[in-house]
Amino acid sequence: MNKLKTRGQLVVISGPSGCGKDTVVKEVLKTNKDTWLSVSCTSRAPRPKEVDGKDYYFLTKEEFIEKIDKGNFLEFAEYAGNYYGTPKDVIEEKLEAGIDVILVIEIQGALKIKEKLDDTIFIFILPPSMRELKKRLDGRNTETKEAMFKRFQSAYQEINTVNKYNYVVINDEVEEACKKVNAILISERSRVDRIEETFLNSLEEEIHEILVELN
Ligand code: ADP
Ligand code: 5GP
Repeated sequence: MNKLKTRGQLVVISGPSGCGKDTVVKEVLKTNKDTWLSVSCTSRAPRPKEVDGKDYYFLTKEEFIEKIDKGNFLEFAEYAGNYYGTPKDVIEEKLEAGIDVILVIEIQGALKIKEKLDDTIFIFILPPSMRELKKRLDGRNTETKEAMFKRFQSAYQEINTVNKYNYVVINDEVEEACKKVNAILISERSRVDRIEETFLNSLEEEIHEILVELN
């Protein structure tokens, strides 16, 4: 008999570009076998070293719009001039199998998920400072000056949306940030609304039996 519900949890992770979302999530996937990262579709061009089907499904704008029209996305949004969307398929299958599904998505998409699926866990990742974030983005060396400008513009709105999330993790050290994300996932598995009714019933039955024995 299952004592707690085994269904996986939907986890949304957001944060300003360059704060370390992908780096922290990679560490979570490595250290927590009960997690799976949803691979998004995007109309942005691949960065050097990005692999189609692993980092993103890279689509043309036309292909992306076709998928929108077909209703293929759980959510989608436009960010810094490109489309990004979460494919609907596979997610339910993973949740059903007890796997926590992680979506690394920006805030507009996160807010859409919040409207649709309010038992989702929302985690916001922040850098220790915006100067440090700029340093990290410079170090990643993937953005043009124009793209960087757009990402810092978005950062204003992003950090002012943090109060819509359930948790904040400051990414000072990757390992520590990863530990905190894993701790959140474990705590959420222990919520009282995950107790199986049948387990509570069996505890009650045992109480009756024990009372009869003691009487
Ligand atoms: P995001 O997915 O939020 O855009 P990335 O995971 O790509 O950010 O991280 C941006 C850059 O910062 C990468 O070069 C990454 O190696 C680096 N980075 C991530 N986390 C840390 C950290 N805690 N300390 C130092 N550098 C980091
Ligand atoms: P990047 O271009 O840096 O890979 O991603 C830009 C932003 O888009 C990041 O905040 C990233 O989390 C977000 N993003 C990635 N995939 C999706 C998605 O499927 N939906 C939404 N709404 N945002 C996404």
